[in-house]
Amino acid sequence: MLRQVDAILLPPPPHMVGDGFRVHGFFPGTHRLSSYRTSPFLLLDYNSEFEFPPSDKARGVDVHPHKGFETVTLAFKGEVAHHDSYGNTGVIESGDVQWMTAGSGILHKEYHSEKFTKSGGLFQMIQLWVNLPKRDKYTKPKYQELKKETFQNVVLKNHAGEAKIIAGKFEGQQGPANTFSPIQVIIFELKKGKTTTFTSKESWNTFILAAEGSAEINGQTLKTNNLAMLKNVGSEIQFTAFEDCKLVYLSGEPIDEPVVQYGPFVMNTKEEIQESINEFHSGKFGHLD
Ligand code: MN
Repeated sequence: MLRQVDAILLPPPPHMVGDGFRVHGFFPGTHRLSSYRTSPFLLLDYNSEFEFPPSDKARGVDVHPHKGFETVTLAFKGEVAHHDSYGNTGVIESGDVQWMTAGSGILHKEYHSEKFTKSGGLFQMIQLWVNLPKRDKYTKPKYQELKKETFQNVVLKNHAGEAKIIAGKFEGQQGPANTFSPIQVIIFELKKGKTTTFTSKESWNTFILAAEGSAEINGQTLKTNNLAMLKNVGSEIQFTAFEDCKLVYLSGEPIDEPVVQYGPFVMNTKEEIQESINEFHSGKFGHLD
């Protein structure tokens, strides 16, 4: 049975995160989606294609904490440099993904890379927050640098293009990301005029962002920079590309546990939030200049 499209969400007016990320906050926020509706995803910030002029000073977000979930950054255009209080550092280049598990608590900062700062240019990115199940909220923080060369490529049915699997399984292939709950993060690159079909997990919350081009998804038009939210009814998905397009497919098994959020801390109870604030103020997340 064809899976029904619940809504096509337009990008909310952009806001700046620090001075380096001009994002449309698809959720939570403007569209008022509950954490139940988006679980295991907590936040989807989308920096649609935007041109930053060259600069001498790197734009970005200075040192800040996270605890109890994962931040996943997909860099389509431009580059982001990253430093954290566990000594991890790196540059996410165009096409790469950074999967940071904040777990028991971490400090980090996110800036345009030195190279991109100097050159300026087009910047396009997604930051996704993925919740951790209660059992894993205190896991040791870690950092997965996922280079585009490591994504698992699958040729789509009808030779409609390729699926690049970053996380989870698709058509028997497995993406490189290690995750704590069942998730799929897949980039579909479809060729103009082609149609393809595949089977999704009906009970998993599922979103599709058109990062480039436009397509029809189960009879609904998805234009560039819009987000399709699917109903949890039916499992078959059919994409038809109106033009060459890039669709970001996000799907995950809901985590059926209470979500208590205070800014960058996402736990299960108010007491755990208070504990997180205390830990942060007492320096337990480490140190980062
Ligand atoms: Mn952050």
